Amino acid sequence: MNLFKKLYKKKNMRLLPLIIIIILSTSLIYLCYKRTSYKNKVEPLSLETSEKTNIKASDRVSDQHDDNKSHAKEDVKDEKAPVTNVAVPPASAPPAHTDTSNNKFDASMIHDYLVKNKKKSDGKKVAFLTFDDGPSTTVTPRILKILNDNGIKATFFIVGKQLDLYPDSRKILIDTYTQGNSIGNHTYDHDPIKLYPKTNVDAKYFMEDIKKNEEVLKSVLGDHFHTKVIRFPGGHKTWHKTAEVDKMLSKEGYFFIDWNDMTSDAEGSPKSRTELFNRYKQTFGGQDKVVILMHDSFGKDTTADALPDIIDDLKNKGYEFGTLV
Ligand SMILES: [Zn+2]
Repeated sequence: MNLFKKLYKKKNMRLLPLIIIIILSTSLIYLCYKRTSYKNKVEPLSLETSEKTNIKASDRVSDQHDDNKSHAKEDVKDEKAPVTNVAVPPASAPPAHTDTSNNKFDASMIHDYLVKNKKKSDGKKVAFLTFDDGPSTTVTPRILKILNDNGIKATFFIVGKQLDLYPDSRKILIDTYTQGNSIGNHTYDHDPIKLYPKTNVDAKYFMEDIKKNEEVLKSVLGDHFHTKVIRFPGGHKTWHKTAEVDKMLSKEGYFFIDWNDMTSDAEGSPKSRTELFNRYKQTFGGQDKVVILMHDSFGKDTTADALPDIIDDLKNKGYEFGTLV
């Protein structure tokens, strides 16, 4: 009995390598067949399929250097491949909004600087000249010329109603835009009674007025136009119950920009060039990033008068000029 067991075991031991060889050979033949059948497979030329095919083609190249790769490994890699593909930005990806080479600054950064009191300085002195309530056919062209003469650009917060009331101002907006200035959204109607009943922001109406204004801006500047930079008429800091509108703006990707310097050209009685310049100096806080509130609407002629003085003063103080995008 013991002898039989030994013989059986020995015979089994002799057969074992043969069995392993047969299994391995069968597996190898199966894998080769599967690979050949996959390579010959014709797939429809949908975008999704062609992306997958490209990935598999690259896998095949690496397969040539790794003959031991199992089919299971390929399947895992194919599952991960689309994620890798998504991570690579397409060649046509839009450029980042911040383009410091052209002194364009991301509005979100300046928003945080002004609102969240993030005064962490990068050491760069930048002044943002901002003009609200335009365009006008009288003051805006003068301001554009002064900016052009100085080789600088500014940010204009447009009220769409002006464009409808004064069709000639549409060309001024196009000039403003093509000159390289930034265009911001200042609501369509600019009506504080509707926007802020009892000084509380009507979030729904506010958003509707912003959207309406955006449509008017698109009708002049083209469907591709979009701005995420907005300014509350009267300033965000002036009004109450802003939580709801802040949430909506954040959800839609808008950033509001108030100011930390002003000429007071829209407060009280009209001011002379000297009065405006003095007011600019009085409110100047010396921050690295200065956002100056001015207006280019009808009647603000002395703003255009005072602008060269303000620009010269900022230049003397070592400021560059930036736009908000
Ligand atoms: Zn305004």
